[in-house]
Amino acid sequence: MKKILFIMTMTTLICFSCTKQAAEEAVFDYNVEQFADLGVLRYQIPDWDSLSINQKMLVYYLNEAALQGRDILFDQNNRYNLAVRRSLEALYENYQGDKESADYQSFVVYLKRVWFSNGIHHHYGTEKFIPEFSQAFFENEVKKLDASLVPTREGQSVEAFLLEITPVIFDPAKYAKRVNQDSSQDIIFTSANNYYGEDLSQKEVEKFYENMKIPNDSTPVPYGLNSRLVKKDGVLTEETYKIGGLYSSAIEKIVYCLEEAVKYAENTQQKHVINLLIDFYKSGNLKKYDEYSIEWVKDTESTVDFVNGFTESYGDALGLKGSWEAMVNFKDLKATKLSKILGENAQWFENHSPVDKQFKKTEVKGITFKTIVAAILGGDCYPTTPIGINLPNSNWIRKDFGSKSVTISNITNAYDKAAAGNGFLDEFVGRAYEKELMEKFGAQTDNLHTDLHECLGHASGQLLPGVDQEALKVYGSTIEEARADLFGLYYIPDAKMLELGFLTDPDAYKSEYYKYMMNGLMTQLSRIEPGKDIEEAHMRNRALIAYWVLDHGKKDNVVELRKENGKTYVFINDYEKMRTLIGDLLAEIQRIKSTGDFKAAQKLVETYAVKVDPELHKEVKERYDKLHIAPYKGFVNPVYTLVKDKKGNITDVKITCAEGYAEQMMRYSKEYSPLPTYND
Ligand code: ZN
Repeated sequence: MKKILFIMTMTTLICFSCTKQAAEEAVFDYNVEQFADLGVLRYQIPDWDSLSINQKMLVYYLNEAALQGRDILFDQNNRYNLAVRRSLEALYENYQGDKESADYQSFVVYLKRVWFSNGIHHHYGTEKFIPEFSQAFFENEVKKLDASLVPTREGQSVEAFLLEITPVIFDPAKYAKRVNQDSSQDIIFTSANNYYGEDLSQKEVEKFYENMKIPNDSTPVPYGLNSRLVKKDGVLTEETYKIGGLYSSAIEKIVYCLEEAVKYAENTQQKHVINLLIDFYKSGNLKKYDEYSIEWVKDTESTVDFVNGFTESYGDALGLKGSWEAMVNFKDLKATKLSKILGENAQWFENHSPVDKQFKKTEVKGITFKTIVAAILGGDCYPTTPIGINLPNSNWIRKDFGSKSVTISNITNAYDKAAAGNGFLDEFVGRAYEKELMEKFGAQTDNLHTDLHECLGHASGQLLPGVDQEALKVYGSTIEEARADLFGLYYIPDAKMLELGFLTDPDAYKSEYYKYMMNGLMTQLSRIEPGKDIEEAHMRNRALIAYWVLDHGKKDNVVELRKENGKTYVFINDYEKMRTLIGDLLAEIQRIKSTGDFKAAQKLVETYAVKVDPELHKEVKERYDKLHIAPYKGFVNPVYTLVKDKKGNITDVKITCAEGYAEQMMRYSKEYSPLPTYND
């Protein structure tokens, strides 16, 4: 199941309330740099000094643990990613030629993209990006390097290395797609990630994990989550990520840092949680992982918290394998108060939703909801990061023990600040009425929708007895995201929002409705290459909802997509009717999920969420390009330094936010790079 939420926040402009003083805000530069379709931002750590030295030390070592897994993700994304990265970095450091030349400039952009994507494929679309410098330039420059700097295999010549690596970089057909979701093809064989041996077929993999399942197991472990599946002497075998197994040298470092961190744990429960994670990394035992997840959910008291491990499965077409990710955070106490109110009212929302009674939870359990300040981003959360997290992913743990759901306030704030005044609303919003609403309420309703999505949406509803949680297969993530989004959209206009004090104006929700429709129908197309379909689950879900509402509202003219002065705009003519349609679709999507109706899921997704109108696509891209806004954003991390007194005792942990993008990436590649180049 996919639980992390990515939202384009480029339309939100208003400040988040809980950040640093205005004076500091004014000088803090959120924008670091921009290249290709990517923008790099930086974020602040508000209220750092409200933590005790003990808590700061805990954060410090959890941060270290979060940075040690970076290589794992590179290797998971493709077996050659570390070889590519290391050869590019060697070249970057030792290049003696003309730095103004077109080849060199393109080379730097390519390296920055590889860092950004943790590999050779676009982080979002997962298609391979092709360098704009020549193969001859690359080969010549690599040959000029001292041979010891070239990441060859043992005993391999530089020439042989180049023969092996250049198609990986330059041949568009080789490893074309990291995650191929096109169900008309073998989605395992044609996906370039490194979760499966290159000779495996989808059938073999599905059968392997089907056989592993224990019939009627009410507490199934997440089979396959922490391993690469390969064929050895004709037999399928899992290579488990653990100490002594695959990725051991990185996992050893992570464990060392966790062992340091545990010394500073805030309480016994947190100590227990970290120790369970260490046990899991040592054993690779998924039962241990579930035990860890359960205890992690139970720890709601600690101020400092973290994600560290093989977590989300977006990177695997079958949704089994967990990419390594990490994030360290601490509670944003002011903002958490509001979210807590939402959690306390969870049952009310469940009871009043338009979903059929049999698909509702009679008891919504343990929704913990808080707003956090991210302290570090690592693995699959770096440099692109979610703005909300809802974990764990295991359905039975969620049902029996609940889940933790967070929104990340300092990241959201950085997005908003960096986007202020970029001209986006002027270009794409057709009427002054909506533009004013969005300027006034955009950030507020956007955050609220995220809260509703994460806290209530994913946690709501239940499967009918006997329904397989994987029944919707390749459509599962899109349907799940649509379900959570619809739940939020359904409730944003509700009088309950005013009653609970989340909104102060009964029209504020229109800002979110308009933004959602504009994004789903039009503006998210700016992030898709010409001629391509919509692939990513969150983008599919937004298109699904927006086009379904457009279609079903046609006879009452609820929403229009109409040209004025040669430009297409969204017009919402009846906001109340739109809410009714949202409710209808929520009921249907919940029915599909609860009953495991694969055919209906397939029909909805294929009808509304995949294909792109090429003319509209072209227009949106042209208008968007003129604004020179990078459609994707990532972040550099702050730098944490231990402050010592004359005797060498640690007295504080200091933060600086001035590190540049290439500077940080090169430093990480030196200081946090434990894996061998080749792990097969
Ligand atoms: Zn979600």
